[in-house]
Amino acid sequence: MEHRELEGRVALVTGASKGIGKAIAIKLASLGVKVAVNYRHSEAGARSTVDTITQREGEAFAVKANVGDTEEVKAMVREVTDRWGKIDILVNNAGITRDNLILIMRDQEWDDVINTNLRGAYLCTKFALRSIMRQEHGRIINISSISGIAGNPGQSNYSASKGGLISFTKSMAREMGSRKVTVNAIAPGFITTEMTENLSDKNKEVVLSMISLKRFGKPEEVAELAAFLASDRASFITGQVIGIDGGM
Ligand code: NAP
Repeated sequence: MEHRELEGRVALVTGASKGIGKAIAIKLASLGVKVAVNYRHSEAGARSTVDTITQREGEAFAVKANVGDTEEVKAMVREVTDRWGKIDILVNNAGITRDNLILIMRDQEWDDVINTNLRGAYLCTKFALRSIMRQEHGRIINISSISGIAGNPGQSNYSASKGGLISFTKSMAREMGSRKVTVNAIAPGFITTEMTENLSDKNKEVVLSMISLKRFGKPEEVAELAAFLASDRASFITGQVIGIDGGM
């Protein structure tokens, strides 16, 4: 068993039913963190994350909520604090894509992406913060994207949401510094998950040619970085955007 350096802490990981969120939930739990596994649609996925954690003697439960919905987020935060008394670590990971060229983008595609990726992080932060602020080692980790830094054709909605998440991270880091809460963003490049598996072979080839390491990343590699930022080893890092993209 890994050294449980974060024993006794409580995390809420949004969108932890699959992909990067799932890997982060499992990694944090391996360090002794009790993890609330949020999902919206994939109940079986969330259950599988929880089962993996409990089979390894960790503690977790699944909590359904649309992160873009104020009342659902409030209820989710209450459920976590009622059960475990506090939240130390919030990972704003839930995210979607609805790619389209701007000329033919539907308002719904724009709104869905902004509501999940940006409003979701705002709501979860707002309602979890009261508890996070009271802890000695409060941590907020926002999963942004390289698209939020560099932009990406066909992803104006997604890039805007992820760029917004970076500015949100920086403002929150300033606002929460006096409360000893660190707030950082992770900007992954291409990571193998459901979100990226629909790329055509041609597009995959183009993307690979832009990556120095000539491969996509794994969710577990992002989870390592998230676990570091959540740990006491990262206590003097705040307001940062850390890329994890194999060199793009
Ligand atoms: P994924 O495999 O598609 O998983 C997305 C997760 O978000 C799922 O657990 C999903 O839950 C959840 N989710 C979506 N909408 C939600 C909502 N309204 N409320 C609550 N949960 C919601 O995606 P991923 O690749 O792991 O991506 C995770 C994060 O990393 C996202 O923010 C994404 O933008 C970011 N990212 C990914 C990559 C990449 O290459 N994969 C690169 C850069 C950044 P349900 O299925 O239960 O709805």
